[in-house]
Amino acid sequence: MARLVLNDANLLDGDRPARRANIVVSGERIEAVSEGPVEAAPDDRVIELGGRTVMPGMIQGHFHAGYLGTGASGRPVGLEVHPSLQAVRATANVKTAIECGYTGAISAGSPHAIDAALKAAIEEGTIIGPRLIAGSRDVGSTGFSADYSYPSYMQLGAKAGVNTGDGPDGIRRAVREEIKDGAEIVKLFVTGGHATIGTGERWEMSREEFAAAVEAARERGAWTRGHIASAEATLLAIDLGVRIVDHGDGLNEECIDRLVETGTFLAPSMLFPKFVMQAMAGNPWADAMKPDWDAMAAILPTANAAGVKLLVGDDFGAFGLTHGDYWQEFALYVNEVGIPALDVIRWATKHGAEAMGMGDEIGTIEPGKLADLIVLDGDPLADVAIFQDRAKLLAVVKGGKLVKDMLPKGDAR
Ligand SMILES: [Zn+2]
Repeated sequence: MARLVLNDANLLDGDRPARRANIVVSGERIEAVSEGPVEAAPDDRVIELGGRTVMPGMIQGHFHAGYLGTGASGRPVGLEVHPSLQAVRATANVKTAIECGYTGAISAGSPHAIDAALKAAIEEGTIIGPRLIAGSRDVGSTGFSADYSYPSYMQLGAKAGVNTGDGPDGIRRAVREEIKDGAEIVKLFVTGGHATIGTGERWEMSREEFAAAVEAARERGAWTRGHIASAEATLLAIDLGVRIVDHGDGLNEECIDRLVETGTFLAPSMLFPKFVMQAMAGNPWADAMKPDWDAMAAILPTANAAGVKLLVGDDFGAFGLTHGDYWQEFALYVNEVGIPALDVIRWATKHGAEAMGMGDEIGTIEPGKLADLIVLDGDPLADVAIFQDRAKLLAVVKGGKLVKDMLPKGDAR
């Protein structure tokens, strides 16, 4: 089998310092990573990288394939268009994600079973996109902060883009419906805050409903993640066994200790509220987000240093954030929050892979793992702005297949 040989790479794994190495991809897997020369076979494609960077394919840990921006109706993301159009746009968004170097994504919510459809279409090769953990409609109690379903007289019984249920049995039913529709991870709206209505102190479901939802998912082998913006709810989420805490505003030392102890993932996704605060400056609702945002920016380096399993990923596609502008997260966390670039790369690779339950298969570049990797014309540790320039992303490889290929043609020997 013809192999892809990447010679003289600056190998950046996220969990250790960069080093020079030669990487051999054979079939869908990484065959070898060596510091010594590679014996190339006659039909191998051999690329001399001259110190260009090879790193694992990145993973969006909070991803909304179906987010499309706000329509003319002013209704929030995704609810103002026909589900078919939304699915077509989501197809374009997953293509954008992989073309930006994201070979994995974990959904943080998607209506109309679009994620399950995308996942199937990607796996059968009908469309291109990242390895996807399919999400659910947003699940919460009636009138929760994201309950933008139409009023009952217009809705005539259909639940549209969200799924609500009340009481432990009601929420269990909502969770089970989402799993029946193909969700592998169910998004729960546990509190307000973080760019929704109300503060993080406002519970959007009762503690009993929360526990029932997590249990109902676990019984069916599905994961849960929660929109959570208080320390109290974060601690409860950890106790219940939620896989990913989204946002986690109100984070404190106790939360950090428990997150580290349990390995629960945290997707702070600070870009969206920052964008909202800037775009809507002067609006009391938007201005009120600032103390929470500032507190998170202040404590996040501590959480990172303590070893919390942080993830990248944000509400791209919502309002002014555009699918494809994922680089903005690197700019935010490195330049504004003060997280070392290597650490954010680890969030985007190793942590993301672990959150997908694929830590043994992807997320680092090691012999035997699946060949999910990217090649960059430069060094992100020297300047994270490299992610902004798609011309510098020379190659995207998923499962050994070149999804994007701007590499030199290479020698066949
Ligand atoms: Zn989101």
